[in-house]
Amino acid sequence: MIAEHPRAEVDGVMVSVDHFIGGRRVASERTFEDRSPLDWSRKLADVSRGDAETADLAISAATAAFAEWAALGPAGRGPILRRLADLIDANIEPLAAVECADMAMLHESLRLRVLSRGARNFRAYADIAEAYEERVWSSNGTRNTVLRRPAGPVVVITPWNAPFMLSTWKCAPALAAGNTVVLKPAEWSPLSCSMMADLADDAGMPPGVFNVVQGIGEEVGAALVADRRVRRVSFTGSPATARHIGVAAATNIVPFTAELGGKGPFIVFDDADIDAAAKQAAGQFDDSGQVCLAGTRLIVQASIRGQFLERFNHFTDQHVLGDSHDPVTTISPMIHPQHLANVAAFVERARTAGDVIVRGGNVWRNGGLWYEPTLIEPKDNNSEVVQNEVFGPVLTLQTFVDDAEAIEVANSTNYGLSAIVYTSSQARADLAGHGIRAGTIWTNCFLIRDLTAPFGGIGISGIGREGGDYALDFNSDLVTYQVVEGSTS
Ligand code: ADP
Repeated sequence: MIAEHPRAEVDGVMVSVDHFIGGRRVASERTFEDRSPLDWSRKLADVSRGDAETADLAISAATAAFAEWAALGPAGRGPILRRLADLIDANIEPLAAVECADMAMLHESLRLRVLSRGARNFRAYADIAEAYEERVWSSNGTRNTVLRRPAGPVVVITPWNAPFMLSTWKCAPALAAGNTVVLKPAEWSPLSCSMMADLADDAGMPPGVFNVVQGIGEEVGAALVADRRVRRVSFTGSPATARHIGVAAATNIVPFTAELGGKGPFIVFDDADIDAAAKQAAGQFDDSGQVCLAGTRLIVQASIRGQFLERFNHFTDQHVLGDSHDPVTTISPMIHPQHLANVAAFVERARTAGDVIVRGGNVWRNGGLWYEPTLIEPKDNNSEVVQNEVFGPVLTLQTFVDDAEAIEVANSTNYGLSAIVYTSSQARADLAGHGIRAGTIWTNCFLIRDLTAPFGGIGISGIGREGGDYALDFNSDLVTYQVVEGSTS
């Protein structure tokens, strides 16, 4: 550990490149480079590259701070969490500037939608934690009481897409439940979470309650999840990484949640509003398809295929690839040259295997990290591009004849995170709701979410549920105590 590095200036905002541990900035001697997807020649920062020693320091700080934070109770923690929410709202502009440069999400989306959801998460979980009522009842001559007790230090590991918002999604319930947190953001977009540490500090969060550690997953991430003082691990990322984290959690007998990828079906029945469905389908290219919830498998009733495709092409033609700062841009660059290469290789393999590239299928001719919005008609349902997550602007198109076939095709991958359905029939909406193997099924809409509802994946899309009381239960030790009635006064 060395003295602090100078802060980096990113589009006029000064951001710390160091860890935040025990209420102060801590630096590693080694660093990793953070570049902007908008212009890969532009280095944004050299960020502290944490190691096992950093992980130990962070878990020690979180362990030391736990008892006092837990003792505050929901009513004592609520005002601090709400102050943090207010500070996020007050800092939307600098946060949007930094996350746009770092991850390349559209500046307008960040400013108008995504970042304020981070603030909402802190407010919502403060409310839900305060509203909890202990369950008390009599049975077998005893009085039973169920308590939700804070569990201890929680390690939160998050991915590079929507780094700030996705981190609040996990940190907010962990903190509201009375736990202390060590957050490790992804190494491809580490900067906005560094700003979250400063905002938490300004909100009055006691030292050690919220810590941010920077670095490479296999290094500091692996050290954090292996630490035996950690009481919960909350992870969003790839199934491959989840398997490593699962082994660490199993070794220490620690509960963990994992929100992994998706291969969401997007079913369009013949009675749907085809224009609305086609527009929503073309919208699955937003954020360059780097969205785990996206409906990437278009499954359209055969009788309306031509009509749907015409409208889908119409809306897809309106997409504008460009600089994420430009309000007319709708498709941002991919996060990293390596990821762009992965997406391009996926499409090449599909082409070679005999799948039909209906549109797109190339890196954008103007250069940079953009990939064209791409639609592929697979040879059959076993095609790799149908079965595996691409995480890019690549959709597949399949058809079905009857309702049973629609559900069968929808359920034919190992994933099960979310689904989108377009129909004007309540019976078909119910069929989809009951029949599709996914944690969230949206009919005639997308991304609408009540924070009290459970959220999570089935199959290789994940373990556990986030949202409302489900997240607070995960982050708590649920304890029952019983007293023989009449035996005490
Ligand atoms: P993606 O494919 O979306 O980049 P990853 O699963 O590779 O997803 O990364 C998600 C997060 O997991 C990142 O913060 C990364 O640093 C972290 N990570 C990667 N490998 C490990 C590991 N072995 N242990 C802990 N964290 C890891």
